[in-house]
Amino acid sequence: MTTNDDHVQHTWNLTHPDSSTITIDLWTDGYSVRVHGGPDDGHDDEGGRQAIEELLEKYTAAGYRVASSYPVNDPEPHDEAPADEPDGKPEKCPECGDPVEYAPKHCTDLREGDAWLCTGCRWGEFLVA
Ligand SMILES: [Zn+2]
Repeated sequence: MTTNDDHVQHTWNLTHPDSSTITIDLWTDGYSVRVHGGPDDGHDDEGGRQAIEELLEKYTAAGYRVASSYPVNDPEPHDEAPADEPDGKPEKCPECGDPVEYAPKHCTDLREGDAWLCTGCRWGEFLVA
């Protein structure tokens, strides 16, 4: 991870049991694609997500596996709940029944604070500290 990755919007990491990791970056301009490692190290493309899809398809066909993919400014994989999510999460939204997610520092016109937020109807409730 370099400190100079402001230009990168999204990164894909591909692993292979017999080869080194390939990293694919999509730049924030939405079309510049850069490949690091593997047979195409240094490869440039300007095809955006379409080019990424093709590269991912090509590498997975060659035995690579997408180990992780994440927005660069939020470099935690999203398949795990954040470790600092507090207890007391509502089972589901009381309004529409959709899942509720933790929204730290949620901001409304009235106040800002940690909140539960519905992924469906955007029902929200601030946590009582
Ligand atoms: Zn809801």
